[in-house]
Amino acid sequence: MQESYPMLSVEEALTRVLSMFAPLPAEQVQVQDALHRVLATDVVAEMDIPPLANTAMDGYAVRVADTADATPERPRRLRVVDYLAAGYVREEPIAPGTAVRIMTGAPVPPGTEAVIPFEDIKVEGDEILVFKPIAMHKNVRAAGEDVQKGQVVLTAGAFLRAQEVGMLAALGHARVTVHRRPRVAILSTGDEIIDVDAPWQPGKIRDANGYTIAALVQHYGGEPIRLGVARDTIDELTHKLQAGLDAGADMLVSSGGVSMGDFDVVKKVLAAEGEMHFWRVRMKPGKPLAFGQIRGVPLLGLPGNPVSSMISFLLFGRPALQKMQGMTPTSLPSRTAILMDAVKRKDRRRHFVRVWLEEKDGKTLAHLTGDQGSGILLSMVQAHGLAVIPEDVDHLPPNSPVQVLLFD
Ligand code: AMP
Ligand code: MG
Repeated sequence: MQESYPMLSVEEALTRVLSMFAPLPAEQVQVQDALHRVLATDVVAEMDIPPLANTAMDGYAVRVADTADATPERPRRLRVVDYLAAGYVREEPIAPGTAVRIMTGAPVPPGTEAVIPFEDIKVEGDEILVFKPIAMHKNVRAAGEDVQKGQVVLTAGAFLRAQEVGMLAALGHARVTVHRRPRVAILSTGDEIIDVDAPWQPGKIRDANGYTIAALVQHYGGEPIRLGVARDTIDELTHKLQAGLDAGADMLVSSGGVSMGDFDVVKKVLAAEGEMHFWRVRMKPGKPLAFGQIRGVPLLGLPGNPVSSMISFLLFGRPALQKMQGMTPTSLPSRTAILMDAVKRKDRRRHFVRVWLEEKDGKTLAHLTGDQGSGILLSMVQAHGLAVIPEDVDHLPPNSPVQVLLFD
């Protein structure tokens, strides 16, 4: 029976999962709320930044020619005719032989071409003494030196970090067009699962997955909708998933109930209510993965073991969230490390072993976080990331280089 389900590589499973998702529609947010959102349109500069040529130093704006013959022995005298603080402009050109005292950021007056900093001149009454020639445009920031009018500054799909938020504000965008956040309904399944605040009873364990997945959804830009725990009955599962659909979920995520046991009802509900694909993915932990849709909404059926469900969500749920937000899906950030422990295995699955990292003598060392069982949640708590053991490696001696996927 089990063998009739295809065994997919991680990449094949991901391609099939992603094919069911599309970027969500755009909405507008205030620029101060745009952090970690994803742009839905290109952003073109409507004006130069800086808008006007301005001084990069506190000093005196001068005509360059006026300083050409200045020497320490025969300084050039210039008469100071005006004072400009940042925020003010002088539209009138200055006459030869004059200068304007000017503060950083103030637009340089017409006719002036460079700014001599205070420390390079001497003041005498209403005159300054210049001791050496100044180069053309010295200490002057050209209009548009940062951004030019008409330039595409940010492109659709850009993930907005603090610097992009600042750039949008500088460009005058009080409101920003971003993709709507994905709403993700999360359901834990199992007769044995009780919620965090329920009194413990023999045979029961507390729901970890519902909280881990909700936290991941939030972390990756989605809005979790917690559906709680469903017992292993078709009725209850159907009912709770329906609540997720009613809440407008863009994606349903369940954990548990996708193995080959007697009470693994997620697959049955998926088949009865929509469309069910069930795969075995060539990975460990996290081999079983149910995927399909109910009334057009994709459902990702994660395995129940806490380590498996988190890793499966990172591999398949995270890129789906990225795609819904209009980003190009990426894998977790990774780095190379030296795995200090040996790894042995018999199967041909890609293993994701939990490691903690240490910097030593200019190298990154990775150490296994103890027991690697898929029920050992502490192996995740102690880990910085997942070392990837490729499918074709049977035995990895200590001190082997590995790629480590980092929890970002
Ligand atoms: P299942 O995939 O339903 O067979 O579950 C596999 C294992 O994961 C079982 O030992 C379950 O008790 C455990 N498990 C399932 N769901 C959760 C959950 N939400 N939190 C913690 N452990 C779970
Ligand atoms: Mg179960």
